[in-house]
Amino acid sequence: MANYGSGVLTLHEIGQLERSAWRARVVGVLSWKAHRGVVDVACRLDRADAQLCMRVVPKRPSQYHLIYRVRGIPLRRVDVNHPHRPLGICTHEHVYDPRTGDEPAAKLLDFPAPPANQHTIDLALWRESFFAFAERCNVEADPGCWIDPVIGGH
Ligand SMILES: [Zn+2]
Repeated sequence: MANYGSGVLTLHEIGQLERSAWRARVVGVLSWKAHRGVVDVACRLDRADAQLCMRVVPKRPSQYHLIYRVRGIPLRRVDVNHPHRPLGICTHEHVYDPRTGDEPAAKLLDFPAPPANQHTIDLALWRESFFAFAERCNVEADPGCWIDPVIGGH
C-alpha cells in the first residue's frame, strides 16, 4: 500500500472539501490521453491542484480506477473489480488518512459498476461510475463534462 506522507491535507481541509455546504466543482471537460481521463476541479482550498481522474484498461474494461487527487494525494480512489488483499477481487474505496498518510481500503457495496471479468462494456456504465464517484467526493459535475474515451487499437 502506498504511503503518501501525513498532513499534506489536514483533517480540517478534508472536512471542508467533503462535508461543507460549498462544493468543489468540475471545470471544463474530461480530457483523455492514453486511457487516462482528467478534469480539473475548482475549490476554495489554497494550492489545491485538484482533479478527478479515471483510468481504464481497454483489455479489461470492467476493471478501472477513479481518483480524486488533491495536492498530489489520492484523497479518494475507487478501484472497480480490482484485486486487493485481503478483500479479494471487488469494488473498493481507498481514503487518504492525513494522520498516517495511508489509504486504507473498504469494500463498496452500493457503487454502480459492471460484473467482474467482462470483455466489453457499455460506456454508459463508465459514465455512471464517474458521476457516482464525483458525488462521493462532494464534487459537483455537470453532465456535459463527460467525454467518452476513444478506445482504439490494443
Ligand atoms: Zn485498491
